[in-house]
Amino acid sequence: MSDWQNDASRDLMGLGGRLALLIRGEGSHVWDADGTRYLDFLGGIAVNCLGHAHPVFVEAVSRQAATLTHISNYFASPAQLELAARLKRLAGTGEQGRVFLANSGTEANEMAFKLARLHGNKSGRTTVLVLDGAFHGRTMGALSLTPKAIYRDPFQPAVPDVRTVGHSIEALEEAFDDSVAAIFIEPIQGEAGVVELPDGFLQRARELATRHDALLILDEVQTGSGRTGVWFAFQRFGITPDAVTLAKSIGGGFPLGAMITFGAASDLFYPGTHNSTFGGNPLASAVANAVLGHIEDEDLLANVNARGAELRAAVEGLPLVTGTRGAGLLIGITLSHPVAAAVREAAQERGLIVNAPTEDTIRIAPAYTIGDAEVAEFLDLFGQALGAVASTLTPTETPA
Ligand SMILES: *Cc1c(COP(=O)(O)O)cnc(C)c1O
Repeated sequence: MSDWQNDASRDLMGLGGRLALLIRGEGSHVWDADGTRYLDFLGGIAVNCLGHAHPVFVEAVSRQAATLTHISNYFASPAQLELAARLKRLAGTGEQGRVFLANSGTEANEMAFKLARLHGNKSGRTTVLVLDGAFHGRTMGALSLTPKAIYRDPFQPAVPDVRTVGHSIEALEEAFDDSVAAIFIEPIQGEAGVVELPDGFLQRARELATRHDALLILDEVQTGSGRTGVWFAFQRFGITPDAVTLAKSIGGGFPLGAMITFGAASDLFYPGTHNSTFGGNPLASAVANAVLGHIEDEDLLANVNARGAELRAAVEGLPLVTGTRGAGLLIGITLSHPVAAAVREAAQERGLIVNAPTEDTIRIAPAYTIGDAEVAEFLDLFGQALGAVASTLTPTETPA
């Protein structure tokens, strides 16, 4: 073990996170302490939408840090007001929309869970529906909405009355009754391996939620902020949720989360029912304005769509690849064998960062700014990694 790994074992909580010691980033590349350069196609888990050390990001952090950083939630700031108005506009909430700014995805979902309570408690309804494979975060409330055993079971008892629903329209129809206060859905499940929902599922969830007076809450922590080539993934489905949560790419690497409400759901919270000391601070808000403003000004969503399509078409021809899932620059690459962990490792050895959310899926979530050079470098290194792993499989395991 190298020195830094010894330090990490001695001083950091034993939760993993020791893949490399990274010291610098620029554009779509990061460097470790030995000077090795990596192409970063994970982007800090779908966060660094402008890449690393983008001039717009650096300028916004520097300017706002030198102006006003933190004021508490007793006060408002121009940056916070600008961000709230921008998010309402991008989400298409109309006048009735409201925004709360938090510091992370789990916090945004925690507040959305409280929104479900405020709504349900008006009529004594406490059931919250979540989907199989959902990931909504790690705090106790958000964790209670996250069915994965390894995440949740050590922390039982969870918040009660959360029911898990399968990914079919029939399962959805069966799960809805008049005890349901809300349903939480990721339009594409990122942590589950970039899993899409069946056709018509979100539209049906919208109809059933409306019919049963339940809230449709979309967790767009991973899919939002332009990641799938539209500002919000729900905009691909022609529906309007009652609330949507954001984090990850919204701050381009600055920690920030948000919950946006639509319609009557905007009137549920009142003074005293929620807040955050850091939430909506001028620094985070200014950076998010700069990042989102740059994506708009440069029409980077067009690049997200074009590069996403290009990458998906190109990886189809590589060894072990059986297909792709996702939208825009949130892509799951499926493999013919359960070797995603080995592929991830082989990629890192060749200077490429990707991740393996399941045993047969590689996830990529690169910056919205990638161009020809990054795509070519990715295909070269990823192809090498796949080829190396394919060559270790016994002939009978090798696909025809
Ligand atoms: C990452 C993620 C979260 C949790 O966000 P944190 O910022 O890690 O708390 C919640 N929901 C989804 C869909 C995510 O991808």
